[in-house]
Amino acid sequence: MDAALRVKAESAIGFMPPDEGLALHEAAIAACTAVPGAPLVEIGSYCGKSSLYLGGAARDHATALYAVDHHRGSEENQPGWEWHDPTLVDDDVGLIDTLPIFRRTIADAGLEQHVIAVVGDSTTVASHWSTPCALVFIDGGHGSEPAHRDLETWAPHVAMGGLLAIHDVFPDPADGGRPPYEIYLRARGGGFEDVSATGSLRVLRRERRNLTLR
Ligand code: SAH
Ligand code: MG
Repeated sequence: MDAALRVKAESAIGFMPPDEGLALHEAAIAACTAVPGAPLVEIGSYCGKSSLYLGGAARDHATALYAVDHHRGSEENQPGWEWHDPTLVDDDVGLIDTLPIFRRTIADAGLEQHVIAVVGDSTTVASHWSTPCALVFIDGGHGSEPAHRDLETWAPHVAMGGLLAIHDVFPDPADGGRPPYEIYLRARGGGFEDVSATGSLRVLRRERRNLTLR
């Protein structure tokens, strides 16, 4: 990853450790090579940190990253929860709004031609999506319902031979919540095979056309 973009990614606001970000970037490059011309999709962009790791690969491989987020924050970002940042609340609306910071992050990195914000609910976007993706990265709501729904609605959009990346996968319950780990197991048993593991990032490849996400 080029040094300038790497510095910007590391200083961006968000939840992506440097080693996992680099692994995500490498996965995106591999995906762009495996499925040339197909887009990348990210579920859960927040302030654009992971989008820079993915967007750099999209730029270098002449494709685009569609960065899906309603920008209202996940359950765990709301007031009173562990990952709440009061500076991200739009006082006029009384809700979190990470879109202005996301836009600034992408513009400042010079990636506006390659990272397309899709502002809305991931399930709604998935229901109208039909383009096979080189890579889908799932890092949206981490509660049971949103995480399982993101897997069910987005995994089918990964192209054959393309990659599915899942963040915050913690096999040991002492390290974090269950749902991302559960959806990782469902993907692995349902038509995807392990490619790599870096920290809590898991990367899998779609090996089967007929998915059986039980
Ligand atoms: N990838 C980011 C962190 C994402 S935090 C980083 O690198 O820092 C999770 C994000 O998922 C939040 O911004 C939240 O708004 C978004 N999100 C949660 N549920 C969603 C849903 N149903 N549709 C769209 N976005 C959602
Ligand atoms: Mg995450």
